[in-house]
Amino acid sequence: MFKNINKTTYLILAIVMALFWPSLQALAFDLADAVAAVPNPRAENHGWVADPADAIRLGRSELNGQIESFVQENGAEVAVVVLPSIGEFAPRQFATALFNHWGVGKKGQDNGVLVLHVLDQRRIEIETGYGVEGALPDVKCRWIVDDIAIPFFRLGSFSDGHIEIVQALIAGIRNPDAERRQLTGNVIRVPGSRVDPPPGGFELLPAYPRPAESPETSFLPFAVISIIALCAGGLMLLLYPLLSWRYRRSHPDPGDQLTYFRKRAWLLEAGAAGVVLGVAAWEWQGHGSLWSILASLPAGFLTQSNRTRRIAHLRNQPRLDPATGEQMRRLGEHDEDAYLAAGQIWEEKLGSMMFDVWISPSGYYRVEQYRGRNTATACDKCGYLTFRKTGVRVLSQATNYTEGVAEDTYECANCGHNEILSRALPSTGTSSSHENSYSSGSSGGGSFGGGSSGGGGAGGSY
Ligand SMILES: [Zn+2]
Repeated sequence: MFKNINKTTYLILAIVMALFWPSLQALAFDLADAVAAVPNPRAENHGWVADPADAIRLGRSELNGQIESFVQENGAEVAVVVLPSIGEFAPRQFATALFNHWGVGKKGQDNGVLVLHVLDQRRIEIETGYGVEGALPDVKCRWIVDDIAIPFFRLGSFSDGHIEIVQALIAGIRNPDAERRQLTGNVIRVPGSRVDPPPGGFELLPAYPRPAESPETSFLPFAVISIIALCAGGLMLLLYPLLSWRYRRSHPDPGDQLTYFRKRAWLLEAGAAGVVLGVAAWEWQGHGSLWSILASLPAGFLTQSNRTRRIAHLRNQPRLDPATGEQMRRLGEHDEDAYLAAGQIWEEKLGSMMFDVWISPSGYYRVEQYRGRNTATACDKCGYLTFRKTGVRVLSQATNYTEGVAEDTYECANCGHNEILSRALPSTGTSSSHENSYSSGSSGGGSFGGGSSGGGGAGGSY
């Protein structure tokens, strides 16, 4: 099936990957670093609350006690994290990464919940492990955010807000059937009645933890990639006219030239793509935006229209009879069938091959052929590009948890040869690595239990 993706597409994909890969990797690496810098309350003081900026000092010990007794009773683990800033990271992503880094919840049960409160972004995230997603589905986490977190935090009652949030989470885990009122209706504290003192002027604190900024390491890959793309692209753009000029000198026939152009035109397109992407990489690193890459799209259209024009020109150039030197005439779609085999007529009908038939007054004729856009593949029996999918039958539907099975029917339009191939339909649920655990599984005082999360939960801004 990949036969028909042309080389240009491959090259553009490869260059785009090369451009983005370092930044993606750098981002993942920075996130892992940033998450690792959050003090682990299990290791620090056998507690459940990380509050390095002292933002909830009014309620911290009460909160710790509340969680500790619940953990003793139930086994599920709750972590509360209040950070002045997580820099540029998205709170959702950060919460999932931190959850898995610590391993909140018992290993194998994944019965953990992590509450992440990011002060400078005025953002709260509730992250649930797989094991509590049944009792605390995303919608219930959203109720807790909307009904409790936002009203308390808006009025600066950080400690009371967190105590009530944990109370609601506990109620939800204890009673998986809890309705909204049972979950968030038992709040006893009043938003705004007890306001935490602003944490030691946290706006003056450096962003914590700060994503690594090292201009040398982030500059280098982009500069190198940009220069490589520019050089390779430029070289291809220079190489093509040179090659085609040499070819044209020894091959005056427009049909030959057309074949040659079809074979080599990717040099032009890839060259243009290389230059444009090289410029984009250079720009991007200066401006930090994707617009420069989007701005390169018209260049793609230009090379494409150049290709179309060139092909049309060479296709219409009259061919000469090699024996008599007379001009030949191109037959119309209808007349040319007389000179084509049945398989070729089918190929043309399906659009997998195109044919031009030229005929000379002396009766001599030649058939020029080239690939069309259709993705029919070569038939094992007759060899023509007339083998294509004609039907799909779903034997069993995929569900959230299991794969389904479908049967594809392939048939050759020319000779009727057919095959039935079955394939799996991917399950519709999130297929996250359920087995992965990120922490050692000891459930002693010094760490979380080793649970993991696939990103369940909800968040909100206040
Ligand atoms: Zn066939």
